[in-house]
Amino acid sequence: MNMIQQSIDPEEDTVDFQSFSHGLYIGGKWVRARGDRRIEVVDPATEAVIAAVPDATVEDAADAVAAAASAAEGWRDTPPRKRSEILRRCYELMIERAETLATLISLENGKALRDARGEVAYAAEFFRWNAEEAVRISGEFGIAPAGTNRIVVDYQPIGICVLITPWNFPAAMATRKIAPALAAGCTVILKPASETPLTAYALAALYEEAGVPPGVVNVLTTTNPGAVTASMLADPRVRKLSFTGSTGVGRTLLAEAAKHVISCSMELGGNAPFIVFDDADLEAALDGVMIAKMRNAGEACTAANRIYVQSGIHDAFAEGLTRRMTALKVGQGINPETECGPMITRKAVSKIDALVQEAIFRGAEVRCGGMVTEGRGFYYPPTVLVNVPADARMAHEEIFGPVAPIYAFETEAEAITGANDTEYGLAAYIYTKDISRGMRVASRVESGMIGLNRGLVSDPAAPFGGVKQSGLGREGGQHHGIAEFMEAKYIATSF
Ligand code: NAP
Repeated sequence: MNMIQQSIDPEEDTVDFQSFSHGLYIGGKWVRARGDRRIEVVDPATEAVIAAVPDATVEDAADAVAAAASAAEGWRDTPPRKRSEILRRCYELMIERAETLATLISLENGKALRDARGEVAYAAEFFRWNAEEAVRISGEFGIAPAGTNRIVVDYQPIGICVLITPWNFPAAMATRKIAPALAAGCTVILKPASETPLTAYALAALYEEAGVPPGVVNVLTTTNPGAVTASMLADPRVRKLSFTGSTGVGRTLLAEAAKHVISCSMELGGNAPFIVFDDADLEAALDGVMIAKMRNAGEACTAANRIYVQSGIHDAFAEGLTRRMTALKVGQGINPETECGPMITRKAVSKIDALVQEAIFRGAEVRCGGMVTEGRGFYYPPTVLVNVPADARMAHEEIFGPVAPIYAFETEAEAITGANDTEYGLAAYIYTKDISRGMRVASRVESGMIGLNRGLVSDPAAPFGGVKQSGLGREGGQHHGIAEFMEAKYIATSF
């Protein structure tokens, strides 16, 4: 058992952060990075440095690609049933270690323990789901229309995959890629976000314990993601880039991948509308908006970013939301009482505040919050704004924080136009008791996912992804997620 496994031992009361500074995870070994620098990991609640991880160079990344290449044939030829059993074991170990993993996520990301527990359950579910999918990969068989031959279509693993993930879901964004890639028979190199690398390394140790062979999953951290990623994509053995993060970085990576004609999956930013019609069940809509807005303290790509409320229910909704937001317990994520933890960095707090102050300057009215909290930790108070102008910056940019701006509307057409007035198209939410109106509006709102009388859409069994500038491809779902890591091979044969 290595140091990292010890650090997440459920028998331990505390997480031993020093054990995380040992190395990059390459070829099933913890190896020293060539560079001497370290990436410091900061607890957003206390601003204390809690660990430091290695800073991989381009040469270290080449080692990771070589390790993934050496393991590729063995893993591709491992029977699907065996791959499935290993994935299932990853699920079981994550569930066994759930509390320790949740604590780790909460410490490095800041999110409330209850959100971190939810993330671990969601993240583990990708292993269970893909363990089931691994043995259901089937091909196609048909007759050419001319009757001259048979058409056989075989689905094969796409090859070595580079996976890049953000800090807001350190476990789930990684497992949402690793589990289907491994189920498809691919080997991977994961580059987690520099703010939250500890969970990725802890999970690497867990995969090893579950029986994932050396080199099948490699993990590296770097302060030079542009050059390190470019070098991996330039290696002809790499055939896939799966990225979750901001639209800006996604565009840069698409351009880099285009140089080498590499298949890309892109899970990018969002600007979700949350539409409440007059006939909605008010309490249900308030429950829904608290989930859609405040899961992860608003640091979610699917977070309700613009809340459109029809005029007849507007005042009651604004009042109810203000009451609920004011009642939230803000504090250190690992405190079990906490409902809203700190933001990831001081820079994130400044960005949120700039959006709020701009909206206020433009005429928005503050119902609660609206001012940066003094003291240690990167906190922003739960905030409700009404009368927000449609051209405020926060109507067009991701707030990524606990700020709920409310926009009043009169007609269904106005709500649809407002909802679509964005370059993004990831998630949207609709509340109405009239199901035919709900379905009609759902079909006209431009987004990859809709919550109809639901504030949560994420489910490993459903295809997750966006349209417009929110991305390309889908993760999860019955065949969508795994298909991103497979290539169709057509064989024409006469018999
Ligand atoms: P980000 O700044 O785009 O970073 C995401 C990842 O990309 C990190 O690992 C980062 O590494 C890396 N990166 C940055 N520049 C890079 C480059 N030039 N080449 C290669 N990699 C690079 O996003 P974030 O701030 O971590 O996450 C928040 C964003 O992610 C939001 O826009 C959110 O909506 C989006 N998101 C989308 C989904 C979805 O499913 N659609 C889910 C979650 C989050 P470093 O950390 O080392 O800089």
